[in-house]
Amino acid sequence: MNPDLIAQLKILESVAKQLDPTSEQRQAWAAAVIDNGEAFLNSLDEAAPAVFLEQPAKAILQHPPTEAASPLEEVLPLISQNIQQIGLKPASGGYLAYIPGGGVYPSALGDYLAAVGNHYAGVFYGSPGAVRMENQLIRWTAELLGFDPDQIAGNLTSGGSYATLIGIHTARSAKQIKAREIENTVVYMSSQTHHAAIKALRVAGLGEAIMREVPLDAQFRMQPLALQQMIEEDIEAGNHPFLLIASLGTTDVGAVDPIDELADMADEYDLWFHVDGAYGGYFALDPAHKDLFKGLGRADSVVIDPHKSLFIALGTGMIIIKDRQHMIEANRGSGAYLQDYIEDPTEYSPAQLSPELSKHFRGLRMWLPLKLFGLAPFRAALQEKRLLTLWAYEQLSQIEGLEIPLEPQLTVLLFRYLPEQASPNDFNQAMAKAIQRSGRVFLSTTSIEGKYYLRLAIVHFRAHLEQVQYAVSFIKAYIETHA
Ligand SMILES: *Cc1c(COP(=O)(O)O)cnc(C)c1O
Repeated sequence: MNPDLIAQLKILESVAKQLDPTSEQRQAWAAAVIDNGEAFLNSLDEAAPAVFLEQPAKAILQHPPTEAASPLEEVLPLISQNIQQIGLKPASGGYLAYIPGGGVYPSALGDYLAAVGNHYAGVFYGSPGAVRMENQLIRWTAELLGFDPDQIAGNLTSGGSYATLIGIHTARSAKQIKAREIENTVVYMSSQTHHAAIKALRVAGLGEAIMREVPLDAQFRMQPLALQQMIEEDIEAGNHPFLLIASLGTTDVGAVDPIDELADMADEYDLWFHVDGAYGGYFALDPAHKDLFKGLGRADSVVIDPHKSLFIALGTGMIIIKDRQHMIEANRGSGAYLQDYIEDPTEYSPAQLSPELSKHFRGLRMWLPLKLFGLAPFRAALQEKRLLTLWAYEQLSQIEGLEIPLEPQLTVLLFRYLPEQASPNDFNQAMAKAIQRSGRVFLSTTSIEGKYYLRLAIVHFRAHLEQVQYAVSFIKAYIETHA
């Protein structure tokens, strides 16, 4: 025994033990954090859904990590002032911009328990319960979308972009696209395809593939016959048609491609058929959308975001692969340090199906809300969003001079006003600014072929008639006073 070493260890231990606070300390912190969360949630009705400052969150820069500890009473106000009170507020019901999601409260509690236990959700052997839970959520979603849950595999990811990456690199692996073939390999998508797919293609080494934009119909849906013609031309030219990326709810306009007809094309030409349902996917819970989902179970891969149309807190996406062998093959890998790890014949581990090994236990933030609420309120909320969109569509259609370029297929509504004198783009930009400054609802905008449009994206679980009515009235009044 080296007495010096022991003495040193005792000193270090006494300081290091601060990392493991007493039960009393934990409870005091937890109570203050819960109070802070309550104050935030209770302020949402009154607070603006977006707050932009001249020099936002500068105070954060004055608080880098330091040797000395800071008391929670000092740290919580920093979080309130620099995070909770400014920027976009995706927790707010007035948030009708981009693709809103939600953040149902039990998601936060699920995260709390996942982090407190630090359960190892990467492999079945690490936390059989966590892995079973995540796989069950994936099978449940797959079945909802029309897949055979016993054939698929999937992964809970950080979001739709990462899910897309897994889908695309699995496609490349399954179709065995070699580096030297990439220049002649063709990917079919549309001008509406989310840029996450383009990024994923680049990351998967397919950035130099031929990218074709399939023409859209008046409702911004891919035209299967135009696709067929493109494929035929590519075959004629000696190219290799590889991948078809369709959208079940585009971000820009909420368009849903004709999934079943596109699946026919993919079958006929042996394409990998990837469907991006990041936004639209969980609308499958609303039977009124049945037609839009027809044929989805024929896709080779589907992306769906629980943090969008299932209202889970940000940080939860999902990829489903129809044939699990492809997913296992594309993500295989092992190390000597994993030799004790026993694979289970009944449950695949997330680490076998994704580039991740250690990972956040994302399942609990999704499972707990589904259990505590049951499915009924989720379904009702999605039905409510559909009807709110219909209502807004009817209202806005009555405004003379308002152009609505397509009927809403899900819950995104695009519009612009065509003034008699002023430039339409200037007018609509000013109208968007005005509504964004209203402090009550926050809309975002987009451009299609140089035309500036406002978007009403009704997805949030806290968005009800009150918020949508406010947006519609605001637009009516603005046009009356400014046109
Ligand atoms: C949001 C979205 C994505 C990207 O998903 P993230 O979760 O933001 O990474 C991809 N496709 C569509 C259609 C989306 O709406």
